[in-house]
Amino acid sequence: MRSQMKKCPKCGEYVLSDVCRCGSPSVTPLPAKYSPDDRYGEYRRRTIIKEYGENGKCRNT
Ligand SMILES: [Zn+2]
Repeated sequence: MRSQMKKCPKCGEYVLSDVCRCGSPSVTPLPAKYSPDDRYGEYRRRTIIKEYGENGKCRNT
């Protein structure tokens, strides 16, 4: 279920286009989770992808 949903940082609305109706550029909400504090999360995710495939569905972490 990989959607193209993006979020407007200004009004918080989820939109499908690159620009929100308010005029602000929308962003993909997922990358926001990869803050500098969570760099290990990405490393772990890459490891999972490498070992279990792109979806990592063999392990639910
Ligand atoms: Zn907006």
